[in-house]
Amino acid sequence: MAHIDRVTIHRQTIALQRPFVTAVRTAVSVDVLLVEVRDSDGRCGWGEAPTSWRVTGESVESVTAAVSGPLSDAVRGLTSDDPEAASAALERAAVRNSSARMALDCALFDLASQAQGVPLFRYLGAGAAQVRTDMTLSAAVSTSDVESLVRAAVEFAHAGFSTLKIKAGAGGDDARTIIEVRRAVGDDVALRVDANQGWSPQRAVNIIATLEDAGVGVELVEQPVLCDDVDGLAFVTGHAQTPIMADESVWTRRDLREIIKSHAADMINIKLAKTGGLREALELANEARRNDVGIIIGCMAETHVGIGAAAALASVIDESGEGDSRPHDLDGGLLLTRSPVEGGVTYDGERVLLSELPGLGIVGLAGGN
Ligand SMILES: [Mg+2]
Repeated sequence: MAHIDRVTIHRQTIALQRPFVTAVRTAVSVDVLLVEVRDSDGRCGWGEAPTSWRVTGESVESVTAAVSGPLSDAVRGLTSDDPEAASAALERAAVRNSSARMALDCALFDLASQAQGVPLFRYLGAGAAQVRTDMTLSAAVSTSDVESLVRAAVEFAHAGFSTLKIKAGAGGDDARTIIEVRRAVGDDVALRVDANQGWSPQRAVNIIATLEDAGVGVELVEQPVLCDDVDGLAFVTGHAQTPIMADESVWTRRDLREIIKSHAADMINIKLAKTGGLREALELANEARRNDVGIIIGCMAETHVGIGAAAALASVIDESGEGDSRPHDLDGGLLLTRSPVEGGVTYDGERVLLSELPGLGIVGLAGGN
């Protein structure tokens, strides 16, 4: 039986398709941290650690320290056929540090499915080789932002995206903006709204009521209030007809149980960077399903490597549902000028195409570097 032999960290900078502008900064590229795990048979598994001080509290430096220190120590020498056990060892080795753990956890699942000769999405369940994603449009604050957001929405709708996610909560007139987007794209496009914790509970209720009264038909509203304000989230969910989705409020099953207890949300956005990888994500999805909580698989600002694992998870979720295969939230790779690797997932409009090769189907770093 092969065992886990060596862990290598690769760092790259990848330019964005267009500058990503928020109220606090303008990003033109992303810092990408990939983790390559080699087993004693020479196979290489791949994982990614998206870093964000604001969401997971991790940086390139903290991930590098966690991966090269306690997390590598925890898995080196373990057999590569039991990624669940290795992932549990990662969780014991370092509290929090969920992005760092995600990278190793996903690389270990990649390795195990390669050893069985099956794509990761078949290793995890009876998934299909493609899933759909929404397309995210950045928040509008000024009038000129609204104009460019509406233009972008129309552009992506014409390009075949059936679901658009509009970022809100950055200080603009969100209800008016969303009404304008709906007017411009017509009724056939699903609209999601992600406030990213930007509203107070009462403001959220007011904005959602305005949208409902105007007949805008919003598919879901994501994380309207601060992540720790579960009471506020429950207040919004109790007052809205529109489904409410928790994102920053739910990392693991522990958070989900709080949400269920107070019926604080109708749905959750599962991200590997919050769960620390596939093992907890699968458990979280199962527990949500059992409690009639809807699921979308999402991503951070991340590349085709992290999204490959997330898309495999999404594909298994879609197949195990009762025809509920709504688009997921896996557009991170669409915002980049290139993939950091050869092989792995590719995009065709709103479709995320999974590799049919064993594991994630990644054959190495792009450009052979
Ligand atoms: Mg979100």
